[in-house]
Amino acid sequence: MPDQIERVLVVAAHPDDIDFGAAGTVAGWTAGGVEVAYCIATYGDAGGFDDTPREQMPVLREAEQRAAAKVVGVDDVTFLGYPDGAVTVTLDLRRDIARQIRRVRPQRVLLPSPERNWVRVPASHPDHLAVGEAAMCAVYPDARNPFAFPELLADEGLDAWSVPEVWVMGAPHPDHYVDVTDTFELKVAALQAHVTQTAHFDDLPGRVRGQLAANAAAGGLPEGRLAEMYRVAGVPI
Ligand SMILES: [Zn+2]
Repeated sequence: MPDQIERVLVVAAHPDDIDFGAAGTVAGWTAGGVEVAYCIATYGDAGGFDDTPREQMPVLREAEQRAAAKVVGVDDVTFLGYPDGAVTVTLDLRRDIARQIRRVRPQRVLLPSPERNWVRVPASHPDHLAVGEAAMCAVYPDARNPFAFPELLADEGLDAWSVPEVWVMGAPHPDHYVDVTDTFELKVAALQAHVTQTAHFDDLPGRVRGQLAANAAAGGLPEGRLAEMYRVAGVPI
């Protein structure tokens, strides 16, 4: 495990995944001086509930995600442009995520679970599983192996980088609970920035609070606290 965390890369499949899963945690990190960058595989162009013209959806969702990121102190947001609903584990996706790891040089990568969660099935959207698997392959071994995707070094000057720790969102067996009671309002504000996704909820703060309170209870936190939860794994250097 790393001694000090200076930079974190968060990898996700869709705009809003990070805000549902980890925005409270991210807000705590950035408040503590950690630089956080986002890498999002799709523009979420297959999402939304209203009659917004489909061709406007990726533009809207990129803007929503950038606004949500700003709420929790994140300015570095990269979209990979894969088609929403059709992401698979390819060498192209592994290379594109490895490129972001080598650019950001994070001590920690937060990623969606490549394992299906039978308790919370919607967490295991096929795009999430694919991005999680590709991101894990990018962490180990692609980003750290100078002979993997040699064009990243030859053409772009991106040296190998070893990520020592991963945090997994939506994992079947979470083992780490982050108290996000103090950043709850920021998380809700970040979620509300995703207007096309969350404006239809009657009581978004109440729903989110209920979920986070259940997480906290599962993690053994004191009554009244709120938590986001992860599976944490060290990756030997
Ligand atoms: Zn998603």
